[in-house]
Amino acid sequence: MSHQSLAVRPVGAFTDNYIWLIEAPGRPGAVVAVDPGEARPVQAELERSGQSLAAILLTHHHPDHIGGVRELTSRASAPRGSVPVIGPDDPRIAVRTRTARDGERCELPDLGLGFDILHVPGHTLSHIAFWGHGALFCGDTLFSAGCGRMFEGTPVQMIASLNRLRELPQDTNVYCGHEYTAANLRFALTVEPHNRAALEYQESVAQLRTRGAPSLPSRMSLEIRVNPFLRCDVATVRAAAVARAGKALEADAEVFGVLRAWKDQFR
Ligand SMILES: [Zn+2]
Repeated sequence: MSHQSLAVRPVGAFTDNYIWLIEAPGRPGAVVAVDPGEARPVQAELERSGQSLAAILLTHHHPDHIGGVRELTSRASAPRGSVPVIGPDDPRIAVRTRTARDGERCELPDLGLGFDILHVPGHTLSHIAFWGHGALFCGDTLFSAGCGRMFEGTPVQMIASLNRLRELPQDTNVYCGHEYTAANLRFALTVEPHNRAALEYQESVAQLRTRGAPSLPSRMSLEIRVNPFLRCDVATVRAAAVARAGKALEADAEVFGVLRAWKDQFR
């Protein structure tokens, strides 16, 4: 399958959120915003670039991902309601105008965009991810070298969600909701101190962050090598989880649960 690669850029929000702006291949000057938790930085970027907002994609209901929607859609120059707000089936997302369900295609034909919807519960129960054009917008489910906290889901749900993402094409660009990569790598290297790919990645991320550049997007092929939460079936990761738990662990979900609880305590 061939896919044209998307032009995507981050807009920083709050302390470490990224709002992703996707340039619409089908309508020059139009962008789609993913998880605009804040309106102000998006508006500033649109004014700077002279572009206009054509649609909004939402991965989950947390305020730092949806908080800017109302202001952005009410201020849009186009008539009200003409900026679709596409998000998961969840009453906590009252701002959405279109619901995206697992297995559906989210088509924006006039913008030249289309995404597959994956339901990825764990961080929240209704969390979805958008995959298309070689890009994955995964909100707070998968981070580079880490994953979201389980606020609502169980380890069984969360690892199933991560395993679905892991099966996407290896060259998928991974656009996460937060800049957590450096801290996640400190944990990853505590779990797997001799993971060469993680050591090399830590160095390149440090260089990017020193000059204020984002560490994202990541690539799925890299995540599979460095992200302990995608490696619960790897012997070194299992051994580290067993040592942490002080008991035998059977299913990968048990390994995942130990890693996630360990990370929650990790400083
Ligand atoms: Zn969240």
